[in-house]
Amino acid sequence: MSAPVSPEDTALTYDDLLAAVTDPSGREVLDPATGELVGRVRERTAADLDDAVAAVRAAQPAWAARSDADRVALLHVAADAIEAAAEPLAELLSREQGKPLNGTGARFEVGGCAAWLRATAATPLPGGETVGDPDTPAVLNYRPVGVVGAIGPWNWPMMITIWQIAPALRMGNTVVVKPSEHTPLSVLALLHVLDGVLPADVVRAVAGGREVGAGMAGHPDVDKVMFTGSTATGQAIIRSSADTVKRLTLELGGNDAGIVLPDVDPQAIAEGLFWGAFINTGQTCAALKRLYVHTDVYDAVCSALTEVARAMPMGRGLDEENVLGPLQNRAQYEIVAGLVESARESGARILLGGDPDPQAPGNFYPTTLVADVDDANPLVAQEQFGPALPIIRYTDVEEAIAAANRLDVGLGASVWSSDRDAAREVAGRLEAGTVWINSHGMVHPFIPFGGHKRSGYGLEFGVEGLKAVAVPQIING
Ligand code: NAD
Repeated sequence: MSAPVSPEDTALTYDDLLAAVTDPSGREVLDPATGELVGRVRERTAADLDDAVAAVRAAQPAWAARSDADRVALLHVAADAIEAAAEPLAELLSREQGKPLNGTGARFEVGGCAAWLRATAATPLPGGETVGDPDTPAVLNYRPVGVVGAIGPWNWPMMITIWQIAPALRMGNTVVVKPSEHTPLSVLALLHVLDGVLPADVVRAVAGGREVGAGMAGHPDVDKVMFTGSTATGQAIIRSSADTVKRLTLELGGNDAGIVLPDVDPQAIAEGLFWGAFINTGQTCAALKRLYVHTDVYDAVCSALTEVARAMPMGRGLDEENVLGPLQNRAQYEIVAGLVESARESGARILLGGDPDPQAPGNFYPTTLVADVDDANPLVAQEQFGPALPIIRYTDVEEAIAAANRLDVGLGASVWSSDRDAAREVAGRLEAGTVWINSHGMVHPFIPFGGHKRSGYGLEFGVEGLKAVAVPQIING
């Protein structure tokens, strides 16, 4: 087994890391804050995917044959390696994704990768339940699925890769990873670091576009796909995977509602509301994307939120003072700008922002708060996935619950109140996989996470997350 890794052992520099993952003849990857070249990625083909799948398939029996203690130890060694390379990893993530180094940005994400590996290593294994005659019981165990395909998005590229591969490895699977075409270098760099400490071919990356993803979803030698991304792509994956009856975990898009009850202290909740909505500059699956506020506290909540939002610096991620960054790509910038325009044209009131400078470099869209917006407006009804929050007024909580539940997605939701019992009662009526009380979007490695309705199916994290990358087997008798 590999020895623990310390920072002195690796001393990996940013230039070393970039050189390991960039290909001089590859496609340009540009910094969304400046338009400068970050590096070049070699796009892989279906034949490369076949090679990677064959390699991880060949490595899987030996990986599964190791003891659980051995795999746990290696997950900790992988976490050590990430911690030793944390600063260059964070710099590359910040340049490629755009997120600031600080706040809940690139350093937080890299630290989260190491923490998640350790927590996955500490999660109790599922299985061993018995039913029936004590002498000849039926025993439920969990076997590895085999080869897991991991397809990821561009918003939290490293963290989501770890969410996919850590439980898969713990349960004795090997993994092929397809990163988003928008953030391939970050994921290749992360896996380069893991490659240095894990046995050969337990994880392989295949950078490429939707053809590689679709190829993975239809591949006869991939036994399970873990997918995080949009609902439309999730639907395509269901279709591509039908012929092989592939197991799927689908973490899809959301449009999370927050309901503020009339008994809140607006000043006390303003910062929580802000980060619930604007974490990663709004580019987060389970971010607060539409806020329903009771009319009694509407004006006070709007002004407290505006005060907090106005003070949050946005700019290039590598500048240490910033806590908000650019949109990762121009297409997402255009979506956000179009949705804010639709609200403005409908007569909604822009409390803050809404005035990007289209000539300025980078995909910066200012922090935007929109009040007195109609619930049917596209800024409310569609997922903006960016730094623009609509705030809708309501007078009766039944009206807010109905509005929260009326969309066909249900990833997260939140209820804000100084009466926890009242909040829990409302929470229980919301059609969402997770409902937070007086916060929004916090995930925990031991607490299962997954969507309702078209936000997907299957659970990640905790014991349920381990079960999701395993096949239950009953031995009866
Ligand atoms: P996306 O669906 O455009 O792309 C995600 C990945 O799917 C990329 O790697 C892409 O190359 C690949 N892909 C594209 N077409 C494919 C196909 N036909 N078959 C297989 N793979 C294919 O998503 P995105 O724009 O990168 O991410 C943003 C979306 O992801 C938002 O809707 C957000 O809410 C959602 N998201 C959900 C979660 C969650 O946990 N539920 C987490 C993060 C992001």
